[in-house]
Amino acid sequence: MTAPLLVAVVGSGPAGLYAAEALVKQAEGNVRVDVFDRLPTPYGLVRYGVAPDHKSIKSIARYLQKVLEDPAVRFFGCVELGRDMTRDDLLDCYDAVIYSTGAMVDRHLGIPGEDLPGSIAATDFVNWYCGHPDAADHTFDLSAEEVAVIGVGNVAVDVVRVLAKTSEELRQTDVPEHVLDALSQSRVKRVHMLGRRGPAQAKFTTKELRELGELPGVAVHVRPEDMELDPASAEAAENDRLVRGNVKVMNGWTQPPADDRPRRIDIRFWRAPVEIRGEGRVEELRVERTRLDENGRVTGTGEFESLPVGLVLRSVGYQSVALAGIPFDERAYVVPNEGGRILSASGEQVPREYVAGWIKRGPTGVVGTNKSDAAETVRNLLADVSPGDRRPTRKIEELLESRGLPVVTYDDWLRLDAAEVALAASLDRGERVKLARWEAMISACRHP
Ligand code: NAP
Repeated sequence: MTAPLLVAVVGSGPAGLYAAEALVKQAEGNVRVDVFDRLPTPYGLVRYGVAPDHKSIKSIARYLQKVLEDPAVRFFGCVELGRDMTRDDLLDCYDAVIYSTGAMVDRHLGIPGEDLPGSIAATDFVNWYCGHPDAADHTFDLSAEEVAVIGVGNVAVDVVRVLAKTSEELRQTDVPEHVLDALSQSRVKRVHMLGRRGPAQAKFTTKELRELGELPGVAVHVRPEDMELDPASAEAAENDRLVRGNVKVMNGWTQPPADDRPRRIDIRFWRAPVEIRGEGRVEELRVERTRLDENGRVTGTGEFESLPVGLVLRSVGYQSVALAGIPFDERAYVVPNEGGRILSASGEQVPREYVAGWIKRGPTGVVGTNKSDAAETVRNLLADVSPGDRRPTRKIEELLESRGLPVVTYDDWLRLDAAEVALAASLDRGERVKLARWEAMISACRHP
């Protein structure tokens, strides 16, 4: 039998691990897959993006764990492409490489005041409450009573929900202790969630939206005039399941909140952010009223309004970053590809290199979307590359050892995993409490 195909997968989020799973299944045993991550932990956005109170989505980690436990799959944590190894190293060590590094930076608004203290990328806030080690020392001033969240996608809904919940409601989740402490000091009472287009163009999904109305102690309001639909939007509200569901839920929130619940969420449409103002920090968000033009594009009306907010969270989408030496479309923020096969600037297939997940298709879809996406990439990879076509010239273990890299193995990760479970038990805080600081994480990996 020929030696098995050796494949490197860079990124151990859902896209990378679904790709590893597809490789094992589709290659029918004749494959070895090494999965790399720059973090000591696997699972990518399942661990560091899915909101802590969305436990059923988080439980996808248990499925992905089985992929890592397959004897044909190995995990190499704390190994970063571009810092610890290059693309050429990978091409020397493997028959093929799949890049699944996701989309971890925030998109910019490009408006004045965006960099004022108190204007925060949702990605930073999400990383912080999810216990990402790069955000462990971030601090957020939650002393303002009113805050704005820009964007009406599912990340915005997550951020709004976390801001609107009490710290007590988050106690039985995995948020790190220092995050829970900071949230317990929060004085936020009113969250404005702002869409630059109308309710029919909102990106959030109905299930996620509905949860806002179920939060105890929180009133949700949408202005009736914001819910007026132009003919195209009205048609979408008839025929498109997502729009129909969203519009129905929000139509139920148009009465002025009669009760005096302690916290309030205002969903505002037709408001585009134009400037963030303040002396030394955010004090006000200026928005322009918008409408759709005859081509369905959003346009300003010249009518402005200011919201007296002390914090602005910009939740306007993620974007991927270019990987050294790998083609990148600087406008679409993806690696140019056809079915996961990487294409050069001249449109030719780059041999032996593939992409999966958000770096392949952009930051869209739910976790499960990555399964079929990764399966497509793997089908194409296996159609192109066969075991024995060429033999890798170097061994990855030797390369990493020669560089003195303190690799985190799957067993090391299991020690960190167990430490988080034990911490939760000692604090009487549910299934897991995350360790968020690099030193604590690495120490838990090394010491049982
Ligand atoms: P998203 O769904 O693309 O939403 C981005 C939002 O930002 C849109 O409302 C967009 O409005 C708005 N926006 C973009 N540029 C803007 C600007 N310059 N000014 C004002 N608003 C602007 O992205 P996301 O919320 O980051 O979510 C990423 C992906 O993860 C999505 O597929 C999402 O469903 C998924 N996700 C799922 C869950 C879940 O299932 N529970 C949770 C979190 C994330 P326009 O439409 O007008 O551009």
